[in-house]
Amino acid sequence: MPRQSAAVHYAVEILSAPAHLFRVTLNVVPQTAEPLALSLPVWIPGSYMVREFAKNIVEISATQGGRSLSLRKQDKQRWLTARPKAGEALRVEYTVYAWDLSVRCAHLDQTHAFFNGTQMFLQVEGQEDLPHFVDLRRPRGAGFAAWKVATTLPTARGARGAARRGEFGLYRAPDYDTLVDHPVEMGTYQSVSFKAGGVPHEMAVTGRVRFDAKRLADDLSRICQWQIDFFGGEAPFPRYLFMTMAVGDGYGGLEHRDSTALLCSRNDLPAKDTAMGDAYRGFLGLCSHEYFHSWNVKRIQPAAFRPYRLDEENYTRLLWVFEGFTSYYDDIALVRSGVIAPTDYLTLLAKTIAMVERGAGRKKQTVAESSFDTWIKYYRQDENSPNAIVSYYTKGSLIAAGLDLTIRSETRGRRSLDDVMRHLWNDYALAGRGVGEDEMPAIIEAATGVDVRRQLALWVDSSLDVPLDALLKPFGVSLARRTGLLSSGLGVKTRAEGGGLKLTHVLDGGAAQLAGLSAGDELVALDGLRVTGNNLDVLLTRYQAGDDVALTAFRRDELMSFNLKLMAPRVESCELRLEDKVPAATRRLREGWLAG
Ligand SMILES: [Zn+2]
Repeated sequence: MPRQSAAVHYAVEILSAPAHLFRVTLNVVPQTAEPLALSLPVWIPGSYMVREFAKNIVEISATQGGRSLSLRKQDKQRWLTARPKAGEALRVEYTVYAWDLSVRCAHLDQTHAFFNGTQMFLQVEGQEDLPHFVDLRRPRGAGFAAWKVATTLPTARGARGAARRGEFGLYRAPDYDTLVDHPVEMGTYQSVSFKAGGVPHEMAVTGRVRFDAKRLADDLSRICQWQIDFFGGEAPFPRYLFMTMAVGDGYGGLEHRDSTALLCSRNDLPAKDTAMGDAYRGFLGLCSHEYFHSWNVKRIQPAAFRPYRLDEENYTRLLWVFEGFTSYYDDIALVRSGVIAPTDYLTLLAKTIAMVERGAGRKKQTVAESSFDTWIKYYRQDENSPNAIVSYYTKGSLIAAGLDLTIRSETRGRRSLDDVMRHLWNDYALAGRGVGEDEMPAIIEAATGVDVRRQLALWVDSSLDVPLDALLKPFGVSLARRTGLLSSGLGVKTRAEGGGLKLTHVLDGGAAQLAGLSAGDELVALDGLRVTGNNLDVLLTRYQAGDDVALTAFRRDELMSFNLKLMAPRVESCELRLEDKVPAATRRLREGWLAG
């Protein structure tokens, strides 16, 4: 019998910061003389799109006992070694190109390094369940002397060369799946620390930004504490890390079991002594969203994700639960933890309602279909997307609101969607069970005693709107819709470009589509007057719905003419208002909803 290999070892070095190259060395002991298959994931959990990470491996070679061992590409993401000697360490060296400034991939230059394991660590097929060690090596040179390491990957305590927390050295994961769920930031980030649920929390902020660290820690600790209490009072992780990259203009977040990678705009972080603005509120909402995922999707999971299969699409019809409910609770956490006022919360909810109602695609695709097809539709949007798809985030969050309000009304405030989440936590996550594709109606009934099969059939499996006007009434909240400027009646989305106005989307059934305009057309003139990047609304103030106008536009380099009949402006925004004089029962119901 060949000697059993104890573990899979990786070393990560910065080969060249200016060339954005990591060098990774993999040491593994083949257990048999069969060729070893090494592969890289094609997607990263939380971002449902095949991204072909193997394309960033630039050079790769293998040796055993000092002799070169040939590697043959077997498919787009997989290499096969020649027959190795069983029981003798095999070494694979490869370089990884890292210049994608997003939360999903890897990014490296002289200012910092960030990577997700899905981008960096070749999976040794057949050895996924062994312990995996990673040696993060400090780059040489004065420019790197102050660099630290932020990651929730556990240090290899007790092993030779073990890292101390926050430093370079050896880290350890119990298996491959865990290894790639702990991204790593290296650099000279600013650090914000606080405790929630008795557990250390940290935010590592990379980028040129000055912000009020104390205020951020105060607000985040309230939000985190509220979520921990919501799920029973015990944090599901030994520590938690927000890894934040602040840039001029950016937005993104990706959840992991003990951490999250965030991309934000510099101005999203709070300045000292300023009122809570939309930007900072939005950033707290993003933090709250990714943090809620520590429970909802990282631990409460669709059965289809247990385990994740990283070499192909993993289909589920349930992202309206895992993204939609998370999108509902991210803002609910802000109001119930007291970080924002109830009226601010209603403004956020009203925005989501308007956003959903503006999309014509919601009539053609259900949120269950949108979940299933996210790999080719939600994550691969194009000029026709508003006409063809519905967002399982925004409509999913309205479904969560609709269910929460329904359950609260029917049980006079004794039960709510909160009970459903806690049921999922206790009876599924903690019990090691995934949520079956058709289980949600039974789960909601088991948790609350309320049968919502009829509602789910209408809102999830067909494309009806959630009737929030009616559902909010018992809570003393009224909904009003406001129409936009006359230009919204054209049925287009536009972008100023090169001094002109380009159509990015032409909406179904709108005046522009009826007249034959297309996405990509560049408007030239309206009734003989030049259209610029910002004067369409001004030109249209002299018209009314029903008027005829002549538009000229370039399609590619061809000038074309169109005759439009202006339509009434469409619904652009919603407003939710707390009614003043309401009966005590209504007030109790409302407080139970917004104050928790
Ligand atoms: Zn999410």
